[in-house]
Amino acid sequence: MSDSKKDTTPQKNGSPEREPVHVPKVNWRSLWWYLPLAVLLLWFWQDLYGSFNVHTIPYSEFKKYVSARQVQECKVKVSEIIGIVDRSTPGVVQQQTDSKSDVESESPTISDKKVDSQTNNSTQDDKRGSRFQFRTVRVEDPNLVEELVASGANFSGVRPGFFSQFLIYWMLPLGILFLLWSFLSRRISTVSQGMMSIGKSKAKLIADKDTGVTFRDVAGCDEAKYELQEVIDFLQNPERYTRLGAKIPKGVLLLGPPGTGKTLLARAVAGEAQVPFYSLSGSEFVEMFVGVGAARVRDLFDEATKNAPCIVFIDELDAIGRQRSTHMGVVNDERESTLNQLLVEMDGFEANVGVILLSATNRPEVIDRALLRAGRFDRQIVVDDPDIEGREAILKVHARNKPLANDVNLQTIAKETPGLSGADLANIMNEAALLSARRASKTIFHEDIERAVEKVVAGPERKSRRMQDQEKERVAYHESGHALVAAYSEHVDPVHKISIIPRGRAALGYTLQLPTDDQFLMTKTELLERLRGLLGGRAAEDVKYDEVSTGAENDLERATTMARQMVCMFGMSEKVGLVHCTRRESMFMPMDSADGHVDCSESTAKLIDEEVKQLLDTAYKDAKQILTDHRDQLELVASQLLTRETLDAETFRGLLQQDSSEVSGSNKKNH
Ligand code: ADP
Ligand code: MG
Ligand code: ZN
Repeated sequence: MSDSKKDTTPQKNGSPEREPVHVPKVNWRSLWWYLPLAVLLLWFWQDLYGSFNVHTIPYSEFKKYVSARQVQECKVKVSEIIGIVDRSTPGVVQQQTDSKSDVESESPTISDKKVDSQTNNSTQDDKRGSRFQFRTVRVEDPNLVEELVASGANFSGVRPGFFSQFLIYWMLPLGILFLLWSFLSRRISTVSQGMMSIGKSKAKLIADKDTGVTFRDVAGCDEAKYELQEVIDFLQNPERYTRLGAKIPKGVLLLGPPGTGKTLLARAVAGEAQVPFYSLSGSEFVEMFVGVGAARVRDLFDEATKNAPCIVFIDELDAIGRQRSTHMGVVNDERESTLNQLLVEMDGFEANVGVILLSATNRPEVIDRALLRAGRFDRQIVVDDPDIEGREAILKVHARNKPLANDVNLQTIAKETPGLSGADLANIMNEAALLSARRASKTIFHEDIERAVEKVVAGPERKSRRMQDQEKERVAYHESGHALVAAYSEHVDPVHKISIIPRGRAALGYTLQLPTDDQFLMTKTELLERLRGLLGGRAAEDVKYDEVSTGAENDLERATTMARQMVCMFGMSEKVGLVHCTRRESMFMPMDSADGHVDCSESTAKLIDEEVKQLLDTAYKDAKQILTDHRDQLELVASQLLTRETLDAETFRGLLQQDSSEVSGSNKKNH
């Protein structure tokens, strides 16, 4: 430990303005592995060192020294004999060589070798000196002891050393195996990530110390911020609440449509409270390995409790928190065990321990109800699509780092974008910046933002899609039909723009109608007029060409849905009455089953179909009536549209007035 401290000091002195020096953390546990390694090395080295001074000699030579009484002392081991030879003792060596020469004469082949070894020996003898240590491999030799006794050498037996034996026969093979295994396992784990770490939490258990997001970055949704303020307050001053015996909610669930800033809010809470932020998404839990998900939940809560106060954020809770069902299957099993673990953990940790579970979903209806009961995610905060003020505020947030021209009026943009979420608005501001960058402009003009709105609402323009003139004319009449019917309806959203430039995937042209205000309720008259407007396009084609085309499919789909809703959900049909009958997901049926059942008898269903048809037919007849009544205006608008391709609200209104004054003028003349 002191070592690592020493390391840091000189570095710090060297560069005081640098960031705090990163000291590589010494992993003491891994150091333990070096100990046996060091022992092994030492042992090998000793062995090696010994073998430098010790001369290995053949057994025959050893026997020679024994019979010459030159072996001063020796130790007889299991497999070898070591000892000291002192040749200064005059002895019978000469005799021995003499006897060898007898052998030489007997077999010449052997003698050659012997001579060789003799010469070799003689050169080695010079190096050895007269007294040296030797080692020789022991050979089966029952008379050795007698001979040694006879030679008067000082000898003893040696029991095999336990330690060295242990090292050789156990540690060495084990060590090699271990090395092999660790090498292989590292290979495998890089090949198939995670196979070796099943059960270990891979959830990003890395606390974000500072998310860098604060409430300043979240606009609109003031109610949600107000509710979350309490959570922040608790994380900062827990005593204030515990003193009064108050229990802070363990879990807060953020509900709302996608893109309304739920994830952003959660990060902002952590940023405001200045506490660690553990973030993971629900789908991270759900893995194919059964039981792994549950282990992760456990790990997560362990880790969080250790680091309290902190925030644990589970995004897209519906991925794990779905209603438990009778469904079979591995994935469901897994999801269920994960969910059960989550429920257990939420009961397990104390309130006021300082861990707050934040969670977000845009499908609250599929969340298991056990998760929503008191003591779990009992606090639910709705984060809805922003209203007009919220939209303006969000636009302002996202305009912060963008150079806006003086003519930009974000309030107008906010007015034109009802129903858009925070994410859409952020996207609009970004698109606007991209559009003006494409013009190499230094600032963003109002026009850029308007075009960005269109792009986000209707899809990007597709100027490359070339239509034939005939088709183009038909589209012009179709769109003019929508616009005219809308213009002659009192209660529908005013026409904002008409265009016959193809956009997005399917639309060949479009009529953009934007409401002037946020609207939460709609009257029957409004709905009927809207229905009429939707059918205006087809009606115009009918009026002009006496023949219809495929271009109205989307209109018909939307009109039918709307009519069906009026009949089934809003009780706007006299014949069907106030009955609310619609497809509903049953509590006890699995959510995934495709056929939800309709809550009504067959005869009612038939009646509903009739009523829907009736509504659509009437609306279509009305639309056609309007267009035949104002045939000249239809022609005028369509021809203008054909030449200009787009008409904005003012031009459109101007055309209508110009024409109606002409018409009324001509009428006067006639009269
Ligand atoms: P979700 O509700 O689907 O989790 P996000 O929080 O991911 O939505 O929002 C996506 C993006 O939209 C954010 O990163 C942010 O840029 C923008 N956004 C959404 N709502 C707001 C808001 N209220 N204020 C500012 N920006 C927002
Ligand atoms: Mg989100
Ligand atoms: Zn249409």
